[in-house]
Formats: sequence, structure tokens, C-alpha cells
Amino acid sequence: AKVRRARSTRLPQYLERGADVKFSDVAGLGKIRLELEEIVKFFTHGEIYRRRGVRIPGGILLSGPPGVGKTLLAKAVAGEAGVNFFSISASQFVEIYVGVGASRVRALYQEARENAPSVVFIDELDAVGRERGLIKGSGGQERDATLNQLLVCLDGFEGRGNVITIAATNRPDILDPALVRPGRFDRKIYIPKPSVTGRVEILKVHAQKKPMADDVDYMAVATMTEGMVGAQLANIVEISAINMLRDGRSEITTDDLLQAAQIEERGMLDKKERSPEMWKQLALNEAAMAVVAVNFPDMKNIEFVTISPRAGRELGYVRVKMDHVKFKEGMLSRQSLLDHITLQLAPRAADELWFGEDQLSTIWAETADNARSAARSFVLGGLSEKYHGICDFWAADRLNEIDEEAMRVLDMCYQRAKEILQKNWGLVDIVVDELVRKKSLSKQEFLRLVEANRSRAIEPSKS
Ligand code: ADP
Repeated sequence: AKVRRARSTRLPQYLERGADVKFSDVAGLGKIRLELEEIVKFFTHGEIYRRRGVRIPGGILLSGPPGVGKTLLAKAVAGEAGVNFFSISASQFVEIYVGVGASRVRALYQEARENAPSVVFIDELDAVGRERGLIKGSGGQERDATLNQLLVCLDGFEGRGNVITIAATNRPDILDPALVRPGRFDRKIYIPKPSVTGRVEILKVHAQKKPMADDVDYMAVATMTEGMVGAQLANIVEISAINMLRDGRSEITTDDLLQAAQIEERGMLDKKERSPEMWKQLALNEAAMAVVAVNFPDMKNIEFVTISPRAGRELGYVRVKMDHVKFKEGMLSRQSLLDHITLQLAPRAADELWFGEDQLSTIWAETADNARSAARSFVLGGLSEKYHGICDFWAADRLNEIDEEAMRVLDMCYQRAKEILQKNWGLVDIVVDELVRKKSLSKQEFLRLVEANRSRAIEPSKS
């Protein structure tokens, strides 16, 4: 016992102090939070668990993409339980000298035990826990020794519940099976990227510490940041604060956040390779829709225009806010439906104006498809001029008539899309340039362009 006390007076090398993270600092977790609360109970109610013979896990494995908050969560577990937090990144275990990694693992666990109760956090577990066969060359031997030492430490606790290991990885698939065997990292928790409501919550957690304007629209920012993780959202709030200070203002606004989101995203985008022509093509597609939409009363409420590649949505996107209640209840007026068809044909029309009939791309295929089915419903619904009010089309011999009439409606809408675009071609041109440059335009940015370039009709020219 004497030796032990003497040892613990030495300054622990792996102890992290002063973090004091709580679950309330980690947002957007949904049900995952319950699982982590249970782990806290292993500390706070350990005695009860043991008496009831509940097996306390040796290790918890947090997996998920980088930046979703795995480290933060491990800290929050320690913070909520009020225990010490020891951490190391497994890449630090991996040394060129045989034996160094293993001795670090021993030292880490020794400190954790001497200062128990404690959480040991191992980041990048895959750096050392890669399946043994996967490592080739001389580094393999060292890693084997380190991994073996880690397995020994995980197994070697009589007084389970005093030291709990939490590890993080974004490659759970390549871990050595020995690590995930029962009694080791046998509790696995996957942390996904946050949903849109998760992003709102995360933004709010970080906004708490900042002077935010009262009317900040977090939902708008969350919508713009699909695919982003907590670390990026935290960054967005930081960048906004810097912008605010730079401009000598005292409050962070929605626009600050949206601009910061663009900066954050551009960092992400730089990694995605697209040719300048491709960017331009995408921008034309979306600019055409946006410019046509502002001409229609039920669709002019454009939330944003973007050509940034996001998870699951490779092409661009114009978010036009229609009156959804009306739309669902089938209460949109005849004119609104025609406007909708016209809008869906705008990309095709823009392509023709820009490149000419013989050099069309196929980027507009999806929206043209929407237009086709909308036109058919329009005719079937008895809304077209020719068949106004007549709904008994189901007879097989009339199907051709329906298609012909739908074609007529499509053609009419197509001409209208072309006219609107021609009349506003100067605006289209500018929106394309801005989109290529910034990749996304907020509602305000787009409307500013509209105001400044209203009806600048310039003959479309090929470029
Ligand atoms: P990981 O370990 O998964 O790579 P981190 O825990 O290191 O991610 O996250 C880095 C930072 O990002 C955190 O310190 C925090 O500021 C922010 N962050 C990440 N996820 C969240 C979240 N769910 N709630 C609040 N902040 C988060």
C-alpha cells in the first residue's frame, strides 16, 4: 500500500483535467444518450450492479465518422460520473521501437487504476487494433505487442467498474476480432451524423456561449448543412463570431451563420473534384429554376439555391417553398399547377438557350420527368382547356388523346419557361457566376441579385 501511495503522487501523464463536460454539452444524440447514461450508472451505482450480478462491460466502443462527438461523449461520461478521465490516441502507441507502445499501454492503465474511479479513453483504436493479418512488414510485430498488452489490461480487472475503457474508431470493420470478444469491447455504440433536428440542437448548444441575435433561424442553417458533423457546426459558430467582431457588431445573425456555413463547406468541397464546365452546367440548371420561380406567386419563396454536392444528392438543388398545405390538399389553383410544370421545364429551356438544340446535356432529365407526369395529372384532372371539366378519360381509346393534350400543355409551359428566361437572361448569367463562385446562395443573397438585375434582358449567347 505504501508503494502505491508513493506512486500516485507522481504527476499522471495521461490525465486530462478541467474539461468538466456534461451530457448537456453533447447535442443531437437522441436515444444514444440513454445508453451512455447507463454507463454512468456503472460508476455511480456500481455496488448495486455487482451485488445483483450484472456484468459490467470492460470496454465500450464508440464508432462513427470523425467529428460526430465521440471524444466529447467519453468526456461527458467521466464528467457526469465525476470520475477521472485518462486519454491517449492509439496512434501514439504505435512506435518504431518494439516495446514502447506496450509500455505506454501499461503506464496508462496503471495511472487510471491508481486514480480510480476513472474512464480510460483510447482514440483511433484502429491504429493499434487493426486485425493482425492486415498489417504487413516490420511495424506489425510492434503493433502485435501493443495490442496484446491492451488485451491483457482489458482482461485484468478484478474490480471491474472502477476503470471503464471507452474507445473510438471510424473503422470498426477492420478491428481485430480479439478486441470485440465478450468481456472486452463488447458494448458497441454507433454515433451517426446528426439529422436536421440534431444539427439545430448542436448549433444551439454552441450558440449558448455566444451573443446571438434573438431572431436567429437555426433551422435555415441546419437545412444548409446537410451531411455536416458536430465539429463542423461548432466551427461555423466560431467563424460567425469572428465575422461579427471583424465588422464591429455585437450580435451574430442568421446571415453570419449561413456565410460561415459556406466557408466551412467550401473546405469540404475542395476535396470534391468537378470540372469547371460541370460546375457551370449545374449552376445553370439551378439558376434557371430559381429565376423562373421568383416570377410565380406560389413559388417565389426561395429558401436557398445550391450546387454543392451533399450526401445522397449529387446534383444541385433549389429549395422553393410552396404552400405545402395547399399542395397536399390539392388546392393549388390551375395557374399554380401550370407554374409548377413551367418551373420543372426551366432547366431544359435554359440548356437550349445556352448551348443550342444540338448540344443539350441530360442534366435536366429528372425535372423534365416531373413536368411530364405533372402535365398528365393536369389533363386527367380536367384542368386543360380542351377537356376542361371532363374527367371520364379512363376509356382506353382516349389515352392517346390525353397524351396529346399533355404534350400540348408541356409545350405551352416550355415556351413560357423560355420566354421568362430570355427576359431575365442577364440575371441568369449573374446567378450562374455567383453560384459557381460560392456554390450556395442564401435567400437574401439571391434576392439581392434579383433586385439589382431585374429585367436585364440580354440576348442569350452561347459560351
Ligand atoms: P470525434 O471524437 O467523433 O472525432 P469530437 O468529440 O472530437 O469528435 O468533436 C469535436 C468537437 O466538435 C467537440 O469538441 C464539440 O465542440 C463539437 N461537437 C461534435 N459533436 C458534437 C455534438 N453532438 N454536440 C455538440 N458539440 C459537438
